[in-house]
Amino acid sequence: MSNRMSVWDTPDKPCPYCGAMCSAEFVDIGVGMQQCGPYHCEECGATEMGPGTTPDKPLIFLERETGWTKRPAAKTPLQQQVRSLFADTVSDAFMEASDHNYRCRCPKCLAWWVTIGPEDTGSEWSFGPFTEAEFIAGGGEVPEYVTF
Ligand SMILES: [Zn+2]
Ligand SMILES: [Zn+2]
Repeated sequence: MSNRMSVWDTPDKPCPYCGAMCSAEFVDIGVGMQQCGPYHCEECGATEMGPGTTPDKPLIFLERETGWTKRPAAKTPLQQQVRSLFADTVSDAFMEASDHNYRCRCPKCLAWWVTIGPEDTGSEWSFGPFTEAEFIAGGGEVPEYVTF
């Protein structure tokens, strides 16, 4: 048995809060696997802090110690924009989903993405944490992508 990590490994990590094994998303970058999303604990909801997952409040001791948080992340510019656009016209569940982590895959967040539509990354549509198939299955319509 060897402890050597291969660049092709996508290792699970224990959650520092509850000890459950957590996984993250990795992409194949040709010379190895690169982590492209934070580790997230399905058991207790803790998330590894990073871009899009760090609270906009000062970090508490446990967060500084572990690098993980259980608090909602600072809103992304898209989330802030949506919040101000729809503040008076949509349901509380919808507003609540705006506060969820950008990568949250709960049913409310799927409904949120379906309502808002895909996000333009500059080169293609992004459906946040969902796949195009999931987005369509949730009732979303994918507009034709036009590059200028
Ligand atoms: Zn946990
Ligand atoms: Zn959610």
